[in-house]
Amino acid sequence: MTSVPPPAPTKPVLSSYVVDQWVTPDGDGEPVHSAVTGELLCQVTAAGIDVGAMVRHAREVGGPALRAMTFHDRAAMVKELVGVIAEHKDELYALSAQSGATKKDAWVDVDGGMGVLATYASKARKELPNAHVAVDGPPEHLSRDGSFLGQHVWTPREGVAVQINAFNFPCWGSLEKLAPALVAGMPVIVKPASPTAYVAEALYRHLLASGVLPDGAVQFIAGHPGDLFDHLDGRDVVGFTGSAATAEHLRGHRAFTARSATFVAETDSLNASVLLPSAAGDDGHVERFVREIKRELITKAGQRCTAIRRALVPEAAVDAVVARLQDAFDGLTIGDPTDESVRMGALVSASHREDVAQTVDKLLAGCRRVVGDGDLDLVGDVDPAAFMVPTVLLLEDPDFEAVHELEPFGPVTTVIPFRDAAHAVDLVRRGGGSLVASVFGDADDPDAATLFTGIASHHGRLLFVDATDAESQTGHGTPLPHLVHGGPGRAGGGEEMGGVRGIHHYMQRTALTGSPELITNLTGRYAPGAPRNLDVEHPFKLTYDQIRIGDALLTDEREITLDDIESFAALSGDTFYAHMDDEAAKASPIFEGRVAHGYFLVSAAAGLFVWPDPGPVLANFGLENLRFMTPVYPGDRIRLYLTCKDKVTRREPDQGTVTWDVEVLNQDDEVVAAYDVLTIVKREVPA
Ligand code: NAP
Repeated sequence: MTSVPPPAPTKPVLSSYVVDQWVTPDGDGEPVHSAVTGELLCQVTAAGIDVGAMVRHAREVGGPALRAMTFHDRAAMVKELVGVIAEHKDELYALSAQSGATKKDAWVDVDGGMGVLATYASKARKELPNAHVAVDGPPEHLSRDGSFLGQHVWTPREGVAVQINAFNFPCWGSLEKLAPALVAGMPVIVKPASPTAYVAEALYRHLLASGVLPDGAVQFIAGHPGDLFDHLDGRDVVGFTGSAATAEHLRGHRAFTARSATFVAETDSLNASVLLPSAAGDDGHVERFVREIKRELITKAGQRCTAIRRALVPEAAVDAVVARLQDAFDGLTIGDPTDESVRMGALVSASHREDVAQTVDKLLAGCRRVVGDGDLDLVGDVDPAAFMVPTVLLLEDPDFEAVHELEPFGPVTTVIPFRDAAHAVDLVRRGGGSLVASVFGDADDPDAATLFTGIASHHGRLLFVDATDAESQTGHGTPLPHLVHGGPGRAGGGEEMGGVRGIHHYMQRTALTGSPELITNLTGRYAPGAPRNLDVEHPFKLTYDQIRIGDALLTDEREITLDDIESFAALSGDTFYAHMDDEAAKASPIFEGRVAHGYFLVSAAAGLFVWPDPGPVLANFGLENLRFMTPVYPGDRIRLYLTCKDKVTRREPDQGTVTWDVEVLNQDDEVVAAYDVLTIVKREVPA
């Protein structure tokens, strides 16, 4: 592990972290100014940086070091990074303010980024094995006799994960890619957007100085990455976030078209929010709709890829909604983002503000400005060049297509009138594929279903807000680490996060076929049909550390009697006809007479396999994949195999989860029930 003391922030030229060294290029770079004061903050250039050496170092040093760790080791490492960021939050907040971000904006970026790391650490520990290979779904039975199985498996890709980020969230935007890549076992090269690279540089100075990351696991390029893509091939993944125009240019590179490196793009998006016709007369719905639009426009001064760019309002309600929007923005405080009274800060730069203003001018060819006519009245001693008033346009020309094509990446949205739900669907789809859409109205409104079926395939995420989730909903513009972020078509066609799904982008899925024994040995998870080890003590007498995958118990037999069925019916109250009425059971297409309750079989099975005394098995906390396969009639005899299928450590260091494969057989060795039993088992913790 490398422990490099953090160098002082590099001024005027930002450093890059290359082959485990901070390197400062000679000469001048692109100047970056404070969005708030206009002062020069730094210059950004990667001139002279050997990006080929970075790729080789990641592949030859970082990758092997990460792959030597298990998913759980890497999850623990990612969790440690949360603590490192927490120690330096104040510095990151202060730097973010220079980019125009209020404290709330910085919270979304910095704390939101920490939340992504923490979520990935937790999900990886719970949902992935403490191993080097992860299985994908259950095995496929490919032969009649069970001697040949297929099992999809995930293993880490052996290349480098390059991330190219947009300027708006210099911490979150990078960490949401870093967490899944590291958990998967891929080294990362981070390339932040130049306008906010100074914030990302500070973040990575601390992460890299922490000693938490193995050598080569993370490198950092401030500035244009030169011929980086020339060094990439089918082992590598590029995660790009930025404009559709840049994505279009980059994805044409031979690294992707000829050498099959993966290009995952998250680009711009004309996200829509729809007020359903029946909701337009309901003050609660209108209030929530307007509040959401306002929040989307002022958070990060509207510089969010997920912000509401098109607000669809029923024709009859347009005047009322516009009036509410005018009220909502009246008196909004804009200015120095460090001033507690300020609700909206600056755009990232004067030139970006100019780009947004020009896009608004283009939109005014078919729209009218209904909010944002007033002068800028700024709080604090600031340079006004990067500030802008929130702007709401109203579409006046229904055939004006630019509202569905141009993205004003700032505090701008357009109100678009619609006739009915089908018209709203058509308008939303004209965005050409978006990251997210939201719909405001009652949960049982048939138009909600029309919207859902009409637009789901055009979006990565949909938010429905009614009166019952109005306070708990997490926000139109808020991507969550548990849920997929991305969108089809114009939104880039990529997908990130979504819990463990996001980790899979950095791994290769392989269809592994072979005998059950081979699959068990290679995956570390018991596959049905593999040899069981019956030559052990009762497995419930073994600690977590003593139990081996495949350790098993074959129980004694138990005869199921009519008395058992009667008693269980009396005890449980379950007097379903199939258990109680012989004639009715015979008349059914499924049974030949009265059958035992499935839940009785599960209970009787527990009676056959448990070891009654206190021991390493502390508790049973559930069943999974339960299937009743063959009816059990009075007089049948059952017995079962209990086989250790899987082991996962728990948050509590002295406990682990052991999953047992249970196969209940009848006297003819037919499987009558199959399921997994989950138990908490004591670990031997060294004193
Ligand atoms: P951008 O201009 O497209 O830049 C994105 C990134 O690409 C930056 O890091 C930029 O580096 C880099 N880049 C540009 N040309 C490159 C090249 N030839 N080779 C390698 N890298 C290159 O976008 P932006 O202005 O930073 O961000 C705003 C846009 O991003 C908006 O359109 C917004 O909708 C979109 N966005 C999308 C998402 C999403 O998740 N879908 C999230 C945030 C933002 P330099 O800065 O050094 O030029």
